[in-house]
Amino acid sequence: MTQTRTYLDYNATAPLRPDARTAMIAALDLKGNASSVHAEGREARQVIEAARVAVAQLVGARAADVVFTSGATEANAWVAAGGWRRIYLSGLEHDSVRAPAAASGAEIVQLPVKSEGVIDVAAVAALLADAQPLADGRALMCVQAANNETGVIQPVAELAALARAYGIAVQSDAVQAAGRIALDCAVLGIDFLSISAHKIGGPKGMGALVLRDGAALKPLVRGGGQERGRRGGTENVAAIAGFGAAARAALNDLELQSAIAARRDGLASALRAQTPELVVIGAGADRLANTLCVALPGHAAETLVIRLDLAGVAISAGSACSSGKVGVSATLAAMKLPDEIAKGAVRLSLGSDTTDDDIRRAVNAWRDSTVGARRAA
Ligand code: PMP
Repeated sequence: MTQTRTYLDYNATAPLRPDARTAMIAALDLKGNASSVHAEGREARQVIEAARVAVAQLVGARAADVVFTSGATEANAWVAAGGWRRIYLSGLEHDSVRAPAAASGAEIVQLPVKSEGVIDVAAVAALLADAQPLADGRALMCVQAANNETGVIQPVAELAALARAYGIAVQSDAVQAAGRIALDCAVLGIDFLSISAHKIGGPKGMGALVLRDGAALKPLVRGGGQERGRRGGTENVAAIAGFGAAARAALNDLELQSAIAARRDGLASALRAQTPELVVIGAGADRLANTLCVALPGHAAETLVIRLDLAGVAISAGSACSSGKVGVSATLAAMKLPDEIAKGAVRLSLGSDTTDDDIRRAVNAWRDSTVGARRAA
């Protein structure tokens, strides 16, 4: 008998949406190279440009400013390689932002984080006022739109306004925010925004960097002249088509977020009823509707993940969310959580097709893996 599985790991990756699958299968049979002038080439080009419009709509950008990449990791690496002299960022950033920034040779300045997992705007204002002006060269500030582990939403527009006053360019990694909160690049006042197709129900290995009109960034992948000279390489038409279809569907998901939040909050209450010592990480901050990061002091995150998996429920360890490494994640370290909580942090993340039955199964599995396991011991 096959076990019914409950998937609560949408922040790691979301299942492929039916619309995305249909669009990808149709695009696989497109013969032409989108750079060719003949009818076959033009047909592939049309699919790419329609997807570009859909992705632009999801993030409130001009289609011409969207450049397709192999994923958000490439988009983030591209921005980091922009020849910056100084990069401001926090420990909340995804490894794909922090690692290339660290390797870029730029001076790294840490942005202060409050205990709820939000960047401290007032402290950043003071930090920028005190910073040594750069004699030459450019500075960048990286502010994720929402955190992959806690779901905490960052004050991107406020920080971008501060940065702009000092001539600092701003990047926002909006991978987790896309389709979950309304995004508008112009309102946010940012120069660069990265997104990933597979987090919104598109294919893995596809993403985009949105560049503000006029934002100067040399190509990372050169040659071929594709993407108007900004990213070389024959386009992955099927993946781009899937990304476009997923973006269209994700835009409609925005109105489902309050129902998803209700389901997530119901899940949190039910878990607390089983285990009253439950700590909800980031509970005091604005969070994505779908994300629940919790810890049970005294329970190792990895053990909980394995027990829930055996009980048919897929979740992930907050301590290892982004890296697969055991230890405290940079996000939880930046929040300065006590070790006991950070090492116990697990993330349950819902999608638009998560059902009440999924929640019920997760609660039962939680009970069996915690209270039940204690009784059995
Ligand atoms: N940024 C964040 C916040 C993420 O959660 C992820 C995926 N874990 C990435 C960037 C990397 O995206 P991709 O998988 O498309 O390379």
